[in-house]
Amino acid sequence: MPSWRNWSGKLASKPQRLLHLYSETQAAALAQSAALQGQRIRAVGAGHSHQSLVQNQDLIVDLLGLSGVISSDPQAHSAWVWGGSRIYTLGTALAASGLALSNQGDIDQQTICGATATGTHGTGAQLGSLSSRVIGARIALANGELVDCGPGQEADLWQACRLHLGALGLITRVRLALEPSYCLLEQRLEIPLEQALADIQSMMANNRHCEFFWYPQTDQAHIKLTNKTDRPPVYPLAEEGERCGWSHEVLPNHRPIRHTEMEYSVPADQGPACMQAIQGLLTKQFREVRWPVEYRALGQEDVWLSTACDRPTVTISVHQGVEEDEGPYFRACEEIFLAFQGRPHWGKVNYLGGKEFAALYPKWSDWWAVRDRVDPKGAFLNPYLESIRP
Ligand SMILES: Cc1cc2nc3c(=O)[nH]c(=O)nc-3n(C[C@H](O)[C@H](O)[C@H](O)COP(=O)(O)OP(=O)(O)OC[C@H]3O[C@@H](n4cnc5c(N)ncnc54)[C@H](O)[C@@H]3O)c2cc1C
Repeated sequence: MPSWRNWSGKLASKPQRLLHLYSETQAAALAQSAALQGQRIRAVGAGHSHQSLVQNQDLIVDLLGLSGVISSDPQAHSAWVWGGSRIYTLGTALAASGLALSNQGDIDQQTICGATATGTHGTGAQLGSLSSRVIGARIALANGELVDCGPGQEADLWQACRLHLGALGLITRVRLALEPSYCLLEQRLEIPLEQALADIQSMMANNRHCEFFWYPQTDQAHIKLTNKTDRPPVYPLAEEGERCGWSHEVLPNHRPIRHTEMEYSVPADQGPACMQAIQGLLTKQFREVRWPVEYRALGQEDVWLSTACDRPTVTISVHQGVEEDEGPYFRACEEIFLAFQGRPHWGKVNYLGGKEFAALYPKWSDWWAVRDRVDPKGAFLNPYLESIRP
């Protein structure tokens, strides 16, 4: 029996079948035959989610074989890319047409459709998530059709597909809104956490990308400020101090140490107070935790299930080593996040149920209505999604 594990190793599944996809025709046939046989089918990208999104007893479909840039339009600043493309494969290929992603997350190992499934984002008060950059998609539905959607065609399906949780069908390609290639200058500084929290709103406003890490039981914030520059890249990229290079070279980091993670988005103006509450928790109650807390910004956007839907946000992430039981620490953090009207990252740990999601997302029932319309028998659901459905 095939077996599957996610990146952290904390989530596992033994599906009856684990198949690799190499064409859209194959995707459509597979979606249809699974649905006809009453089987559950879930896609997998790079397996970097910490939430039980992929696990499924029947069929897991790996889309890494559908990879690369299909076509780019430098005038319109957009490109079609295959759904299984790892983000790190896109940078150089898009740069060949003078194009680049507007923002990226901490790492670039995820696939593009795995990343958009959960609203993956980087930092930047004026920058949206990768989902917000999806302006078109092609999806293999449970009825065996390959359907194109975008703002002017199947607009509701497109809205649902921008942040899709893998629950609508197999997304074979997406059209991304991009921008002309640009270089970034990254600068780092260390200041007391108290000062960082006092200044963070102006730092966020005055820098294209701004974030900090705080390590428990210290009082220093490790800040990263990154901005567009006319300077040429300086190779090799420095490991410390200033780094200057193309956006796809500067934005991603290496995160080799296996961990698990919870992240919540809170309204931007509540970010510092929420961070102070998390700091208090770590200082008083969880003194043994050494993993850092990360503080970033995500601009307001109109993606239905985005944690930044209709509100500018700050995201706060807490981590724990894979050999530890993260439960007590993460549950205590979640209580604080919820008190600040937090919305959890879809690809990371949370303990919420459907009622809570319905209260957090004005478009929750619209998203499910589209999902149920294109997959009435629930072939693309799994136990986790069943547990939170309205
Ligand atoms: C070290 C690390 C760093 C991270 N950094 C960030 C960060 O900076 N910012 C951030 O927001 N998140 C971050 N994450 C979370 C990560 O970006 C998300 O969990 C993302 O969804 C993972 O993408 P993936 O390709 O691994 O998808 P998977 O985890 O494999 O799958 C995620 C979902 O996508 C679905 N799916 C995948 N491909 C398709 C497809 N083609 N069609 C239909 N459904 C599909 C799956 O069914 C599943 O529901 C990080 C995670 C790790 C482990």
